[in-house]
Amino acid sequence: MNSEVLIIGAGAGGLSAAYWLLKNGFKVTIIEKELVVGGLMRSIKYEDFAVDFGYKHLYSRIPEVHKFWSDILGDDFLPYQSRIGILYNGHILEKERKFRGIRRGMPYGLLLSSFANMLKNNYRSNKNSITSLQDYTYSRRGEKFTRIFSQEYDERFKGLKWSQLPAPETLKRKGFLSDFLNDAVKITQKQEHWFHPSKGTGQIVENLEKEVLKMGGKIYLGFRVTNIYNQQEAIKSIEISNDNSKYELKTSNVISSLPLQIIATLMGIDFKPAKNELSFNRGIILVYLFLKQPTKFPHTSLHVSCPNTLMSRITNFSAYGGSMVPKGKGCLCIEYFSTNSIELFLKNDQEIFEFAINECEKSGLVNKMQCQDFLVIKAPNSDPAVSFDDYSTDPTRKKLYEQLSKFKNLYQINRTGTDKSTYAGIIAAKAIVNNDKHLFDYYTSPDIYAPWEK
Ligand SMILES: Cc1cc2nc3c(=O)[nH]c(=O)nc-3n(C[C@H](O)[C@H](O)[C@H](O)COP(=O)(O)OP(=O)(O)OC[C@H]3O[C@@H](n4cnc5c(N)ncnc54)[C@H](O)[C@@H]3O)c2cc1C
Repeated sequence: MNSEVLIIGAGAGGLSAAYWLLKNGFKVTIIEKELVVGGLMRSIKYEDFAVDFGYKHLYSRIPEVHKFWSDILGDDFLPYQSRIGILYNGHILEKERKFRGIRRGMPYGLLLSSFANMLKNNYRSNKNSITSLQDYTYSRRGEKFTRIFSQEYDERFKGLKWSQLPAPETLKRKGFLSDFLNDAVKITQKQEHWFHPSKGTGQIVENLEKEVLKMGGKIYLGFRVTNIYNQQEAIKSIEISNDNSKYELKTSNVISSLPLQIIATLMGIDFKPAKNELSFNRGIILVYLFLKQPTKFPHTSLHVSCPNTLMSRITNFSAYGGSMVPKGKGCLCIEYFSTNSIELFLKNDQEIFEFAINECEKSGLVNKMQCQDFLVIKAPNSDPAVSFDDYSTDPTRKKLYEQLSKFKNLYQINRTGTDKSTYAGIIAAKAIVNNDKHLFDYYTSPDIYAPWEK
């Protein structure tokens, strides 16, 4: 079982790399520990439902990737209207002005009390006492507007308290009313047009799997990489195993979509993240609610900012159009962002479902009677909030990335963002085809945030 390029992981990145290598006449073997392809881009299937792995907005910021997906999907890449709501104590407010104007659907009582709170905060604030992001935003918009529209959700998503984050370097202010109006009319989403596969993001990886197999690529499902042997900054072979057997594969090039800490462990590289390097110990719990009736709101997702709930984000799959959800039914996915160790991770699926449905009932979204079935997925170490900034700001992550980059025949393509993983996979394939690893290091380096914009 020897092959020219070995790919670890059949996610968006690994499958894209395999596709481009095979197109260029290379031999490819993919090792995937699960029994299905797709990783974090796979579909979750239940009866006639085929929905995404949590919230999935596909960015079109990398033209090469957008074109790749459009070619793979053809007419099944459908435009939809992205509409993000904010769930606050039983109200659904709007993130963007274009839906319900500058008031964002705030009831007058809430609007007036938030405005009064803003005046109070502004009156009290003193430029010299602004040291944190929290001080800065409170002085600009007041505590109430800030917590409702950004802080509560962002703190859950990233696990970082705004009181501990630095204030922006430039504290230029025009005056509180013009600052407030400027914030209120600001366009929050940079991307104007959104597209989604009609049958969910899993359709992209499933189509890629078919193409890869058609071109003679091999995919070993249910095999886990259990050891990586290296010598003088080159990988020599890889040990893979399933329940019954173990093999050692020799290879000239390895493309890996494993998270940094996992590949480092397999390669025997020592590391010890500090406690505040959050990007190493966060994960996510997904609770799917399969509903007998359509959902009551038109938003594609809701950011939760109710102080008394733990849920963080809710995806409403029917709002994407397409056929992820059968007609007359509904499906919501409730996401809990957390550190891997929080109590919710220790509960069993039934307990987690009860917890989630209670939070939804209290917020007026659905009730238990509407729920036909549920599914709970615990994904420790899958943190949607890890960003490329963490590769520069987390010392351990930065060091690990640099150490792994030194390996001559290793292409580390795991990225946060389906488009970025896909891009890294395509560039890894191009670098191998051109026998030029620098191409990969240059175009996918964390220091070059958006090489596609250059
Ligand atoms: C809840 C959530 C929401 C997200 N929302 C968005 C979004 O809106 N937009 C967006 O663009 N991105 C989003 N992302 C990020 C995006 O899903 C990922 O960045 C992307 O799918 C990663 O692709 P990948 O191929 O790099 O890795 P993965 O999809 O993680 O693939 C890695 C594969 O390797 C396999 N594997 C792991 N260990 C082994 C082993 N030892 N041996 C063999 N195989 C192994 C895994 O099973 C997996 O299939 C989100 C992620 C999450 C978790």
